[in-house]
Amino acid sequence: MDTCIFCKIRDKEIPKEFTYEDEDIMVFPDINPKKPIHLLIVPKEHIVEFAKLTDDVLLSKIRKIIQQMITTSKLSDAGYQVTVNGGGLQDIDHLHFHLKGPWLEREV
Ligand code: 5GP
Ligand code: ZN
Repeated sequence: MDTCIFCKIRDKEIPKEFTYEDEDIMVFPDINPKKPIHLLIVPKEHIVEFAKLTDDVLLSKIRKIIQQMITTSKLSDAGYQVTVNGGGLQDIDHLHFHLKGPWLEREV
């Protein structure tokens, strides 16, 4: 996908500091964060959207990484959202999961 921004990030055509990376998955902060923590969890393979995802092994890897990010970002009890836009709601046609938080007010 020549024009896909997430493929360009994967291929290092666009410099990006990764929060996490392995052979299948990359994680980096959203450029326009909606919460203090707003990470994008992105499979390196160009899967157009969630409805096209068939690889259960990949889905399981994504789940584990999202859970790891929840822990390392200290969101476990702070309120978080994991969301996927699809069906035309998404801006970028390369599957990605948003992890956003914290959502809960807490006493200090
Ligand atoms: P979508 O609406 O497709 O679910 O969300 C796409 C997200 O990608 C948006 O939250 C947007 O801010 C983010 N985004 C768009 N371009 C870039 C970019 O070049 N770098 C990063 N880190 N995030 C981007
Ligand atoms: Zn792509």
